[in-house]
Amino acid sequence: MVDYAKPLPRPEDAELTQPFWDAAKRHELVIPRCSRCDEYFWYPRAACPSCLREDWEWAPVSGKARLHTFTIVRQPGNPAFEDDVPYVYAVVQLDEGVRMISTIVDYELPDDVAVDMRLEASFDDITDQWTLVKFRPA
Ligand SMILES: [Zn+2]
Repeated sequence: MVDYAKPLPRPEDAELTQPFWDAAKRHELVIPRCSRCDEYFWYPRAACPSCLREDWEWAPVSGKARLHTFTIVRQPGNPAFEDDVPYVYAVVQLDEGVRMISTIVDYELPDDVAVDMRLEASFDDITDQWTLVKFRPA
């Protein structure tokens, strides 16, 4: 794991998102949930996009999702991902309603990947510090 050769996550606000990364390391998925209007939201930000209050917390979610849309990447934008192509770049809709960008793993192209397919979170421990949240067919 230590000689992971691809770009590592560089969170725009590392302090804000640290609980997400800590949960991923435990193989748990958490997303922001407003304490006032109970809405989940993604991406993490200072205020709830529904009611604009800054009163929210990291809430555990099921990791269950469906594939909202996807594309198959055949030419990587970064040379470090050349060994991965083709891979699925996906917009995943969690059962809690929010959509997040991720990748799909544990599938065979083209038959295993389709819009609306059921997915579950999958955790990829790429280094001792970083775990990436991906999704696989459920
Ligand atoms: Zn709210």
